[in-house]
This record gives sequence, structure tokens and C-alpha cells, in this order.
Amino acid sequence: MAQAQVACDKCGATLVPNAAYCERCGERTRRARRLVRIAIRVDLLFFLMVVSLVIGFTWIYAAQH
Ligand SMILES: [Zn+2]
Repeated sequence: MAQAQVACDKCGATLVPNAAYCERCGERTRRARRLVRIAIRVDLLFFLMVVSLVIGFTWIYAAQH
């Protein structure tokens, strides 16, 4: 794992350990941005799974009639 970020990328203020946001300017820390990216990926994966299930069931239903 990358070393902890100690200062804000935007304003340079010192960050609280494991902070998600800068207390001075509100900028997201690198750690928080990475977590958001992972969350989006999981959401996308779930969405694709639901879509493929719907398409699969529609195809099976259409094939039976
Ligand atoms: Zn800042």
C-alpha cells in the first residue's frame, strides 16, 4: 500500500491521518478518491450483472414462444 498522504494536494494543509477530506479546503484525499473509484467499479459490475440477467431471461422467454 502507498504511504499515507500527509498534506492536501490542493492547498497543502496538514491532513488528519486517514482523513477523507481536507479540513481547510474540502478537497478529497487520494485515499478517498481511490475508495470512490472502487465503489463506482462495484456499482458498475452489479449493474452489468443485472442487465445481463434481464437480457438472458428475455432471450429464454422469447426462445420458448
Ligand atoms: Zn486542502
